[in-house]
Order: sequence, then C-alpha cells, then structure tokens
Amino acid sequence: MGQENNYSTWVEIDLSAIEDNVRYVRELSGVQVMATVKANAYGHGVLPVARAALQGGATWCGVARIEEALELQDAGLDCPILVLGYIPAGRLPDAIKQEISMTVWGHEQVKMVSELREKGGIPARLHLKVDTGMGRLGCPPETAVPLAEYISELPGILLEGIFTHFARADELDSSTSDHQEEIFRTIIFELQERGLKPPLVHAANSAASLTRPSAYFDLLRLGIAMYGLHPSPERPAPASFRPALTWKSLLSQVKVLPAGSGVSYGHEYI
Ligand SMILES: *Cc1c(COP(=O)(O)O)cnc(C)c1O
Repeated sequence: MGQENNYSTWVEIDLSAIEDNVRYVRELSGVQVMATVKANAYGHGVLPVARAALQGGATWCGVARIEEALELQDAGLDCPILVLGYIPAGRLPDAIKQEISMTVWGHEQVKMVSELREKGGIPARLHLKVDTGMGRLGCPPETAVPLAEYISELPGILLEGIFTHFARADELDSSTSDHQEEIFRTIIFELQERGLKPPLVHAANSAASLTRPSAYFDLLRLGIAMYGLHPSPERPAPASFRPALTWKSLLSQVKVLPAGSGVSYGHEYI
C-alpha cells in the first residue's frame, strides 16, 4: 500500500541501499567504517540508518553533538560513538559516564576531562583532531605531538585516536590532499617514535574513501557516499551505489488555463 492515501508529499528511505553502500566500502577498504550519522543521518533518520550501517559492517557511529550520541545509546545501540564536534563543558560528565569518545584539540579541554574523570573508572577516550588544512576544528600540526604527550601524562584519559579532515578530496586535483596527508603522516611517525601512536588513526571522508587508499589508515568516516550520493561531480560514487532517499509527491491538480493567463504570485509565469 503506497503512502498516497495519507500524504501529498513524503520521502522513502531504502535502508538496504545504506547497508549495501557501507558493505561495499568496508570490503573495498578492508578497514573499519564509521557511519557518519550527524544531523539526523543527513536527514535520512538517524536510528534506522545507524542500524542499517552497522548491519552493513560499520563498527562506529560518528555524530556532531553529544545529544546525538545519547540518542543512539538510549535507543540501545552499543557500538562505539565518536562526537566529532565540540562538547560544552557542562556535558563532559555525561560523555565520560556514557563512555562516548570525544574529539579534542586543546590543552584546556584535555585537562578538564582528566580532572572530571573519577579515580578508578574506565579512562575517558579521546581522539585528537589535527587541522592539516581544513581550517576548521583541530589543533595546529605543531601542537599535535606535545598535546599527545600531555594526554599520556594525565590520569584518567586515554588517547584512543588521532584524525584529520580533508578539505578538497572531492576534486580531481589532489595536491591539497597530498599536502594534508603528508603533514598528518609526519605527526603519526613522530608519535610512533615516541610510543604514543593511538590505536585508531583516521582521515578519510567519503571522497577519500573512494579515491585515496593511502589515506585509509585504520578507519574511514563515511558520510555522503553511505547515503548513495556523489561526493562531487568530479568524484562520483561507484555505479553500484544506490541513493537511499527518494522524495515523492502527488501531482495534486492538472488543469488547462486559457493562453496568456498569469500563474501564481505576481503572475510571474504567463
Ligand atoms: C561529516 C564528516 C565526515 C563525513 O564526510 P562526508 O564527506 O559526508 O563523507 C567525516 N569526518 C568528519 C570530521 C565530519 O564532520
């Protein structure tokens, strides 16, 4: 039975498309996939999408805000969740208590989490975000190693991951991505030398996941391609990818007007 008896316009989400798209990337890459389900799963409906992505082989969920992480947990999802955005100080205790992984980029944040962490509990899990050229959240490259050292010295916190974000991976010219990856690799190398390299190194968004095997590292943060949409016209998703969302509307009325009639406000159309 279609929706047309009850709605004049609606969207249909094909969850098997989400599952298949994730499975493709998971098998192509051989590394872990984080389903990026921020903003209500790009408008697709966060809970069904997250479940479908996990079914397709994703092992993590990524969100922008702590409220989104708590919503996933309240619904019973027990995969690890990373908050990719800023967590206000007042919500840090919730993140710690709920064992939600947190993105950090500054000494003050890190110190605050360490102090909030009750002694004897499971360490709070941090992912250090490095700004290698996106120009948004993240520490400058030169502070990444000192910050990782600082984290290793404080009680109650654990550096679980380190990541960066590509600004132009969806373009044919890869020079910016090459440069960003080089900066990131230098940091990873320095961490490794100091015995500080965390278990999860990640960099790739959808565009990099589909075009840049050198940036796979340990995990891919899959967003737009998981929904079956192209990262850009220059970097289309593989032909087997199916868009999950279809928007349908009823043609409500059809009629013939006399030639020369005006249509709608201001009669803009004649
Ligand atoms: C949204 C987001 C992604 C996913 O990006 P897509 O281009 O949609 O694949 C990956 N990483 C971070 C940090 C994000 O905020």
